[in-house]
Amino acid sequence: MTVEQPFWLKPLNQMSEQEWESLCDGCGKCCLNKLIDDETEEVYFTNVACTLLNDKSCECSRYPNRFKYVPDCYRVTADNVATTTWLPPSCAYRRLHEGRGLPSWHPLLTGSKSEMHKQGMSIRRKVLSEDQVGPDPDLIGYIVVWPLDEVE
Ligand code: SF4
Ligand code: SF4
Repeated sequence: MTVEQPFWLKPLNQMSEQEWESLCDGCGKCCLNKLIDDETEEVYFTNVACTLLNDKSCECSRYPNRFKYVPDCYRVTADNVATTTWLPPSCAYRRLHEGRGLPSWHPLLTGSKSEMHKQGMSIRRKVLSEDQVGPDPDLIGYIVVWPLDEVE
């Protein structure tokens, strides 16, 4: 008898579109404004979220046609995940690319987002919208460290 392996153990470039999309834990952390040091390339996350991010569901409110509203939104793919260095350490795409597997709280393992929220691994109720902080805010004052925390 052969037991089929979970799809997330496959190489990233062999996943179907549906499998790829379902890898996303829906944490919302990649939708935060970030500052990147030009010299060191160090990434600093802020608690200022994209205007389309829902801070309760942690989902994009216009995901299917988000590029129409936010042209600089970014699509993570198997081809660019290695060079997308600003993904938070907990991001499923980053973790799988680095051979770290999914964390224990990932919705694919637990069946829902509850454990992720409970363990503080999402942006839920921790962020401000770009609309609240106004145009061209000094993002340095909004830097936070929590997107870098990890729970295995
Ligand atoms: S950080 Fe990664 S896993 Fe979390 S929402 Fe963004 S793409 Fe999905
Ligand atoms: S457009 Fe949607 S997916 Fe893109 S950064 Fe904004 S909330 Fe996130």
